[in-house]
This record gives sequence, C-alpha cells and structure tokens, in this order.
Amino acid sequence: MTAYEILDQLKNEEAGLAPPTVYRALTALMDEGRAHRLESLNAFVSCQCAHVDHAPVLAVCDDCGSVEEHADEIVMDRLTAITRATGFHARRHVVEVHGSCGACAA
Ligand SMILES: [Zn+2]
Repeated sequence: MTAYEILDQLKNEEAGLAPPTVYRALTALMDEGRAHRLESLNAFVSCQCAHVDHAPVLAVCDDCGSVEEHADEIVMDRLTAITRATGFHARRHVVEVHGSCGACAA
C-alpha cells in the first residue's frame, strides 16, 4: 500500500490524521524491521519474515499486486562482494523482482 492508501483507510477511524503521522509510523515500522519499502512502487509492505536485520528479496506480482518476501543471505553477500570490488561500500540493498505470482501465472 502507498502511504496515502494507508491514510485513506485510517481516516475513517481517525479524521484528523495527516500524512506526516503516517510517514513517521512507517519509518518506525521500517526501523524495527516490521515493514519494507517497495522502492519501485513507492509503497510499503509488512515484513513477512519477522527478521529485524535482513535485506529482503521482494517478489512483486504485476497482475494481482501480491508481494512475496524472501530472505537469502547468499544473494546479499554476493551483491556486497560485487560492489565492493570497486571499493564501493554497500549501505543497504534493494532487491525487487517483478513478474507474475504462482497463482496468476497458472
Ligand atoms: Zn498474482
């Protein structure tokens, strides 16, 4: 969901809610590892792995909008190694894969 979709849903319960409040809550959830930002869609998804310190591989279904989360340290280690070869120091990883989920592809 985008921040504004979240805001629209919450406005029914709390009329005075403003965008900064939603963004602060999302930032806190991301800091705690309970939510991830989908950079390609400027949207947010709740963490499905309950890991505080991991970089997720997010598989986004372009047909139904579902998001599958995968945690794969080998992928992250490899990405860090590839970028470090030129002296680059990775701070965070963003891995998003777009396609069709198993249900939509069937
Ligand atoms: Zn799908």
